[in-house]
Amino acid sequence: MPADPAAVPPSAPPDAPMFDPATWGLTERQAEIAATARHLGQTRFHPRAAEVDRAAQFPRQNFDDLHASRLLAICVPEDHGGLGADLKTYALAAAEVGRYCGATALTWNMHVCSCLWSGALADGLEMDAATRATHERRRARHYARIVEAGKIYAQPFSEGGAAAAGGAAFSTRAVRTEDGRWRVDGRKIFASLAGAADYYGVLCTETTPGGEGRRRDTLYLAVPGDAPGFSVTGEWDPLGMRGTVSRDLIFEAVEVDPEEELMPPGVYHQAAVRWPHMFMTLTPAYLGIAQAAHDFTVRYLRGELPGMPPVKRRMYPTKQLAVADLSIQLETAKALWFQVMGEAQADPGRESKLRAYACQHTVMETAARMTQLAIRTCGGQSMLKRFHLERLYRDARCGSLMLPWTAELCLDRLGREALYLPGESDE
Ligand SMILES: Cc1cc2nc3c(=O)[nH]c(=O)nc-3n(C[C@H](O)[C@H](O)[C@H](O)COP(=O)(O)OP(=O)(O)OC[C@H]3O[C@@H](n4cnc5c(N)ncnc54)[C@H](O)[C@@H]3O)c2cc1C
Repeated sequence: MPADPAAVPPSAPPDAPMFDPATWGLTERQAEIAATARHLGQTRFHPRAAEVDRAAQFPRQNFDDLHASRLLAICVPEDHGGLGADLKTYALAAAEVGRYCGATALTWNMHVCSCLWSGALADGLEMDAATRATHERRRARHYARIVEAGKIYAQPFSEGGAAAAGGAAFSTRAVRTEDGRWRVDGRKIFASLAGAADYYGVLCTETTPGGEGRRRDTLYLAVPGDAPGFSVTGEWDPLGMRGTVSRDLIFEAVEVDPEEELMPPGVYHQAAVRWPHMFMTLTPAYLGIAQAAHDFTVRYLRGELPGMPPVKRRMYPTKQLAVADLSIQLETAKALWFQVMGEAQADPGRESKLRAYACQHTVMETAARMTQLAIRTCGGQSMLKRFHLERLYRDARCGSLMLPWTAELCLDRLGREALYLPGESDE
């Protein structure tokens, strides 16, 4: 596979930040973490992205780089040796990664959820003192693995039923054994990092043998990748985000130590109800893709892409109009996203929650629309595999499909919740 001629060589000048620190009022820490992510993305991830995509292979080297630069522990609290990033800080860095390799940004997101949800997010939720002390001890195990040994966590919740959309209890079940362990049975579909992760942050329902589980009984357990009874199955040859290797997981009487709980029983449900922005961690990858589609188009039309004859196409009014359209779409999505990421907290107001749905929908649909327009504008050569625009186009197509906040579900909730206040009906 020839190298992508548009991949920026290491000697190239660094790309400008997606969010200029002074203009957007980033903290020094945010700017520094985003700069590290952008540098890795531009110099390491981008040159590898074509091969990761072609082979549909997990980007292992990229994760080694993330570990070496401490970004694997970006959302591990500082007193546990991590960078202690909150959602917004993480999101700013992940968007930079998304510009260069969507599959790396998306798999990194799955890993980061295990730290963000058990870390900053859990810190703002209610637990009695004894439960918090147990949580503190347990999460220290997870964080030490990540910080010291570069262990990777996956985030499987999809099952193919109504559970991942929040409509039912997870059908993957955990039953307490006589010796106090969890016995997990079930199946997850579309688990990014399948076969590559060291631990799988499985969402499952605590039940008694033969009993019915409830959503509030959701457990969040880290299942080790080498646990007896755990296996990875199914093929993986999708349209886009191919490097995520999102295959299916089988759990057959997998025994899990309660010390592997990523959150105490009941706390995941509390988070899902009270902290809606936790489901927005997928957006940065796609916002980064939108930025990349814009940047590619501008460079292409200016005749500045490495490996292309320096033919300029910028003088045509139709191209100028299309670039204006891309800029408007990008700026709109970025402005809304930046605002919404800053609103993330427990129990946000109603407007804030509705804005979060609007933002998720905007980012996912904008990325897909922009990559489509970018190809139409640049023309036939731009959809050749030797350029990364066609990969951006395929990767962008996945954003709207991702539960729990697919584009359809965002529309569904936004419309209903805008028209009906809590408790209202037409009966
Ligand atoms: C590249 C990629 C990586 C992924 N990685 C992960 C991962 O790491 N972990 C993980 O858990 N999942 C992951 N997923 C899965 C993803 O989040 C979805 O679960 C998956 O795409 C659902 O596919 P489905 O066809 O089974 O959806 P279905 O559940 O059949 O839904 C199909 C569509 O119907 C709509 N819909 C569903 N339920 C409702 C409802 N109640 N009301 C109205 N409309 C509804 C939604 O728009 C949905 O897109 C990944 C998906 C992709 C594409």
